[in-house]
Order: sequence, then structure tokens, then C-alpha cells
Amino acid sequence: MDSAKRVDVAIVGCGPAGIQAAITAAKRGMRVLLLGRPEGSSLKYAHIDDYFGVLGPVEGVKLLEIGLKQAESKNVEILKEDVVELSRDGLAFKLKTESGIEVVTDAVILAMGARRNKLNVKGEGKLVGRGVSYCAECDCSFFRGLNVAVVGDGSAAAYAALLMANYASKVFLIARSVEFSSKLLEEIGSRGVIVIEGRRVVEILGERRVEGVLLDDGSRVDVQGVFVELGSRGVLELVSNVGLLPNASGYLNVDKSQATEIEGIFACGDLCGPPLSLAKSVGEGYVAAVSAFEYVKSKRGVK
Ligand SMILES: Cc1cc2nc3c(=O)[nH]c(=O)nc-3n(C[C@H](O)[C@H](O)[C@H](O)COP(=O)(O)OP(=O)(O)OC[C@H]3O[C@@H](n4cnc5c(N)ncnc54)[C@H](O)[C@@H]3O)c2cc1C
Repeated sequence: MDSAKRVDVAIVGCGPAGIQAAITAAKRGMRVLLLGRPEGSSLKYAHIDDYFGVLGPVEGVKLLEIGLKQAESKNVEILKEDVVELSRDGLAFKLKTESGIEVVTDAVILAMGARRNKLNVKGEGKLVGRGVSYCAECDCSFFRGLNVAVVGDGSAAAYAALLMANYASKVFLIARSVEFSSKLLEEIGSRGVIVIEGRRVVEILGERRVEGVLLDDGSRVDVQGVFVELGSRGVLELVSNVGLLPNASGYLNVDKSQATEIEGIFACGDLCGPPLSLAKSVGEGYVAAVSAFEYVKSKRGVK
């Protein structure tokens, strides 16, 4: 006997993109299953002060709690487990969770977020949210008048340094080797950013808050903030089985309706690439759900 759970749409990822998709799909009358652990969301670490309707800063964890309650109130079924397998099942899709629960669904919305690349140095883990940030756009305003270091070689680091030049008192850009254009380097210089090239950060210093960084030549740079801008990778191991491949930057390609290259699979949020932000994730979650609804309706021949 087939004991698989059957739904109209299964949403993989319990962050803002997935939760918004679940709310929207349920409001349109779909049977929705939302899978994933809310505590795995990047929003858990954020203090939001740049999202419509929210006079912040408000803890991201609070927004997640409210979002989950909203989803439950719309009869979304929530299964706080990771999905470990995604495959085709005839014209539908099959998902398997970590405890072995099987789900058959007409449409899938992927919302697994992105893993930010870390520096992996001493002090980094304990100082996240205490001066260590992985998102200059999100946290820039908390560093007004302070000294900050931006760590990274690529154009993302360069743009983060330029952005921080509007807020911080002094900005150091620490790069093993500068991999962005000379024009950008010039622009950075003209904004007073101090570029330290050919050096590696080996430790982030400070007990309760960031106090500085230690470089591989033994020198120390005194800063109160460290922006790690080493890019990020979508969580894409799951999707290769159904023939989805990440683009060169490691994200999933989608069209304007949030459809992937595989019919019936939609994607939203950080998984689809920068800017990695709450507003974009929620907007994409909404669009993905509307598109999944239209897809399921047309598949069933409903006008
Ligand atoms: C420190 C910090 C501060 C930030 N500040 C801001 C800010 O001020 N403003 C702003 O707009 N944005 C900010 N952001 C960015 C914002 O949090 C993200 O853009 C947003 O959370 C992305 O939403 P998402 O739903 O795409 O992914 P996420 O929120 O990362 O959620 C992904 C979900 O997928 C789940 N998942 C992963 N793999 C699986 C699987 N195999 N099966 C099931 N579930 C899975 C995870 O457990 C998680 O529940 C900040 C981020 C960080 C880290």
C-alpha cells in the first residue's frame, strides 16, 4: 500500500521565502506541506530594520515565529524535518524526509536559502552578531562612525567596502589578492577605503565584541566590525537528482515567475542569488506560490 502523504504543493525550507510561499499557496486553497527547520533560517541571526511595515530593529527570530503562526492559521501543515531526497514520480514529485516520511506532490517550491562562506578563523563563530557580519547591506547602519574591516577578494567585497564608506569612520578592505577591476579599485581609493592586499585574516579578536583582526604577518588592525564577503552557495545537493544544476555562482536560475528549468519546480529566496535579503525572499516566495497554484490548476485542466 502506498503510505505517502499527498499534497498539492510541498515547500522545502522554513525561512521567510518558504513561509511566505506557504501562506500564499494556502490562501489560494491548496493543500500545502511546509518542510524544514525554522531554526536553520538565516533570519534567525538578523535584526531587521529595513523591511516594509516593521519599525525595527526587530529580532528575525520573532518574525519567524509570527510567520509560522500565520501559516498555521491558514492550515499549512508544517513538518520540521529536512528533506533528504527529491525525485520524479510520474507527472508528480516525491520527497523523502530525514525520518523516512514520503511525500507525493504536484508542485515543489524550493526555498532552502544559501550558506554564506565563512572565514573559518578563531573568534569568528563566537562573535557572529557581535561585530562579525556576513551581510553589509543588512548591517551597515549598525556601524555608523566605527572602524570596520571588509574581508574578501571579489567585487562583492569591493561593493561592501564602498557601501560601508558611507557609514563607517574608517574602512579596511583585506584581500589575499584583489580580483576586481582597476576602475573599482580606483573608486574605492577615492572613497578613502584602505586596501590591505596580500594578507590573510588569521583571527578575529575580542571577547564580547569585535576589537580587531590579526593578520598572517602578525600585524593587528583595530576595528569594531568585520564584514565577511566571501560569497555564498545555495543548498543545492538535493536538486541534482531531478536534473537541476546551479549556475556558475552556485545559485538556481529562475524566470520572472520563479519557475526553474524543470516544469513543476519553483524556487525562491536566497537560493536564487543576491541580493540576499528578507524583502526579496518574501516577494519571491509570494510569486513562486502564485505560479505553483497556476501550474497545478492547469495540470488538472481547471479553468
Ligand atoms: C546576520 C544576518 C543579518 C541579516 N540581516 C538582514 C537585514 O537586516 N535585512 C534583510 O533584508 N536581510 C537580512 N539578512 C538576510 C535574510 O535573513 C535572508 O535573506 C533571508 O532569511 C533568506 O530567506 P530564505 O527563506 O531564502 O532562506 P533562509 O532564511 O536561510 O531559510 C532557509 C530554510 O531552508 C531550510 N533548509 C535548508 N536545507 C533544507 C532541506 N534539505 N530540507 C528542508 N529544509 C531545508 C533551512 O533550515 C531554513 O529553514 C540577514 C542575514 C544574516 C545571516
